[in-house]
Amino acid sequence: MRKKIIAANWKMNCTAVQASALFNDIQTSLDKLTHCPAEVVLCVPSLYIKHFAESKKTNKISIGAQNCYFENKGPYTGELSAEMIKSCGAEFCIIGHSERRNIFGESNEWVLKKSQACLQNQLKPIICVGEPIQIREQNTYISYIQQQLEAVYNHLNTEEAQKTIIAYEPVWAIGTGKNASPEQAQEVHHFIRQFLRKRYSPKTGDDFIILYGGSCNEKNARALFSCKDIDGGLIGGASLNAQSFIQIIHAAI
Ligand code: PEP
Repeated sequence: MRKKIIAANWKMNCTAVQASALFNDIQTSLDKLTHCPAEVVLCVPSLYIKHFAESKKTNKISIGAQNCYFENKGPYTGELSAEMIKSCGAEFCIIGHSERRNIFGESNEWVLKKSQACLQNQLKPIICVGEPIQIREQNTYISYIQQQLEAVYNHLNTEEAQKTIIAYEPVWAIGTGKNASPEQAQEVHHFIRQFLRKRYSPKTGDDFIILYGGSCNEKNARALFSCKDIDGGLIGGASLNAQSFIQIIHAAI
């Protein structure tokens, strides 16, 4: 049986003081649980990774970054490499979030290179795919997502692919309050799993962790996470409220 993962994407939110308070609230609540229903990953602003990785008091939390650059070092002002992020104690890194693709112009090619940089540095990439609203309305979202998947997985071998996680995040659902219905999400998750079964092997596809992201909250999480091919969530807005986030973790049964 696949484990569930609940990953928080704090995006560009929280001053240092606010971030510590949020982190402590989440940690205190998780600490009280004798059994945590999911692996919890906090993808925080990179400035805070080292502090949280070193000061965390529970192994129920892992720390992740939200982006990295694909070179290890050099004249790339303002960028952070996967190697640097790993050296600060992160274990995961979100790659190809739609905000990176749309605001910062990241191509499928960059998503591949960044994923490879993560793998070379023992960071687990959480690779985001998902269609914009126009593509959903044209009913071409399956082939759109297939292209995003092929751009990465055509170039990763089985061993590499097994170290990655996919997050299906329909762009129209991110930060809009309009989540995909469980049926809409399950349809795409099923397609992604079949893609991986064909590309690698039935077992590799069946073992793959595929997260849903897009306006997931404490009210809709349980219905989404109950779907056969949904293995947890990548949570944006609702992860900034410790109580909501903890309720979402509890929905991952
Ligand atoms: C995200 O940005 O990854 C996300 C899922 O955001 P939200 O939950 O706010 O829609």
